[in-house]
Amino acid sequence: MTKKLFPFCLPLITIGYWLLAIGSARAADAYILENQLIGGQTSVSGPAEYIRIFFIFGLGLIGVVALFAVVFGGIRYSLSGSSETGKTEGKKWIFGALTGIVLLFSSYLILKTINPDLVSLKNPVLPIIEIDVPEPPAQNIINAYGSHTGKLPSQITFSNPKYPNMEQEFNEKASNSMRQAVAGLPIPVVITSFWRPNGSPTSDHYNAKAIDIWTDNMTDDQIRTVMDYLNNNPAVSKTITGRLPQMNMLFGNSHDYGAKTNSDHVNHIHVSFY
Ligand SMILES: [Zn+2]
Repeated sequence: MTKKLFPFCLPLITIGYWLLAIGSARAADAYILENQLIGGQTSVSGPAEYIRIFFIFGLGLIGVVALFAVVFGGIRYSLSGSSETGKTEGKKWIFGALTGIVLLFSSYLILKTINPDLVSLKNPVLPIIEIDVPEPPAQNIINAYGSHTGKLPSQITFSNPKYPNMEQEFNEKASNSMRQAVAGLPIPVVITSFWRPNGSPTSDHYNAKAIDIWTDNMTDDQIRTVMDYLNNNPAVSKTITGRLPQMNMLFGNSHDYGAKTNSDHVNHIHVSFY
């Protein structure tokens, strides 16, 4: 009885060590192991291979255990003489060991039938996340609001015969957040007014905290573009334009100033800054 069972166990052990030998014969891999694996392997390609080696070793180990169980059962059976209990127990050991081996291999087959991925170990891979990084503003714009001496981009024009030094005054007096907002305007604009030292002391222009953008050279769509940009800029506290009064903004809220205020701003957008 015992002799008949040898052929079942020996191939299992042999296959196990043969696979281990393949592993150890491979070239150096990505992971150098601090402790040499059973079978002498000192590196693996990844966690999957590591687990595979232990699994194969486990198979061999189970084969050995099964072999001893079968041998033990066989001896039990042989020495039982006329005792039926001894024979039954011997058979139980042999049968149990064989069932274990059959189950072990069946489980592999069942898993492979359900889904081959369940038995093919793969190294875990982190997915690559793609992030859209917005393009940084052009270098000259960064410089423009980086310091009071930097130039604004050429698409910003200061033009009003009443204020011949407007650009210089803007460079000297405008706050950095104000310069940043102006430098980032999405389309070319003409600024017709900034600092008005002779105006009303309560006016934002008197305090160099406002500009007027000329709108006679702009289409409604261009005005909308500029208003959208300004109304969403945290440095801007107020916008007023007579052309599109429904877009007027006061302290972060859409606000119509009424017919008179709008009629004062028919040819420009007034922009106040905090
Ligand atoms: Zn104004």
